[in-house]
Amino acid sequence: MADNIKVAIRIRPLIAREDGQSIVWNIQQANTDHPKVLTCERDQYNCFDLLFDTNSTNTDVFNSIAKPIIDGTLEGINGAIMAYGQTSSGKTHTMKGDTHSPGIIPQALEYIFNSIANAKDREYSIRVSCVEIYNEVLRDLLSADDKDQFGRTEKSSRINIHTHSQTIKKGRDEKGQPQSSTETIVRLTNCTERTVYSAAEALEFSELGFAGRAVAETKMNTESSRSHAIFRVYIESTELINGTASGSTRIAHLNLVDLAGSERVKESDVSGIGLREAGNINKSLSVLSQVINELVKVQEQGRVAVHMPYRNSKLTRLLEPALGGNSRTALICNITPARNAIEASRSTITFATSAR
Ligand code: ADP
Ligand code: MG
Repeated sequence: MADNIKVAIRIRPLIAREDGQSIVWNIQQANTDHPKVLTCERDQYNCFDLLFDTNSTNTDVFNSIAKPIIDGTLEGINGAIMAYGQTSSGKTHTMKGDTHSPGIIPQALEYIFNSIANAKDREYSIRVSCVEIYNEVLRDLLSADDKDQFGRTEKSSRINIHTHSQTIKKGRDEKGQPQSSTETIVRLTNCTERTVYSAAEALEFSELGFAGRAVAETKMNTESSRSHAIFRVYIESTELINGTASGSTRIAHLNLVDLAGSERVKESDVSGIGLREAGNINKSLSVLSQVINELVKVQEQGRVAVHMPYRNSKLTRLLEPALGGNSRTALICNITPARNAIEASRSTITFATSAR
């Protein structure tokens, strides 16, 4: 198991519209000496890093999955937390949550701002951006530009994924000479970034971004479940020396991702768009699975990655610095326990199994 990639399974409780459904997915523990296993009828799965059953809360999920990744980003290590699963499996509940049960995004923002308020040796600067990937096209969800009836911005088409090198100050060597290193940064050009000074302010931007998506959700229900929403928090800091920010610089970003529904998109279900576009809809998800699969193999076999297909989808391109190399990633695979969705849930578990 690759240490920097964790795969978790979360089973949500039955919801109102599943009344009367029988529960087929469970998490069981024979006795305290045995690790927990995921079960479905006669099948048992014991290959996951973390299992969350219907009793687990968003706080449980945050504490065990998100905290170590966020601690990394405060130290300059890129991170990604992604929610995977079929539509209505609990992805948005896990990432965004609601006022009674804040999800990973609001908890992460609180945690980041509390941590930096207590950091006496570094000066931090936090920026956020929010984008959506639909049909391999990026949209800026924080753009102030006029939106069309679906909440899309005109600016969207101009977003570009741009890889460039940035010189990072690394403090001074023993002779007092300034040290630096060059790191590859994946930046979005023509994409709104907002500097934020509090968790509440950052949260407002995440809500604004997700609301841009929600407009689309009511107007074009099916399409919105096929879009990936990525809320990105840039965390930059400089070491304070004698009270001035003149020491080493760290830069990292945390990607909080509500993935598109993992259900298969049949061409016959896709109305109003061409065949080529239909083929693109799940492209980012399938490339993501190839990338994670390959990263885990590389790690387990202790070999060098030869060819990673990051460039084959917008999602993996955007997340490249948070997936490979010095980074920490968690994939939270959400399922409903209900019998009527057993095939969709099995396919999620197959994805999760191949990802670890
Ligand atoms: P998705 O984003 O995957 O389409 P949602 O997060 O919208 O799914 O969840 C579908 C429904 O199930 C929502 O009404 C949500 O409030 C509810 N739900 C999801 N996960 C949980 C959970 N862990 N506990 C309680 N309700 C949940
Ligand atoms: Mg959702």
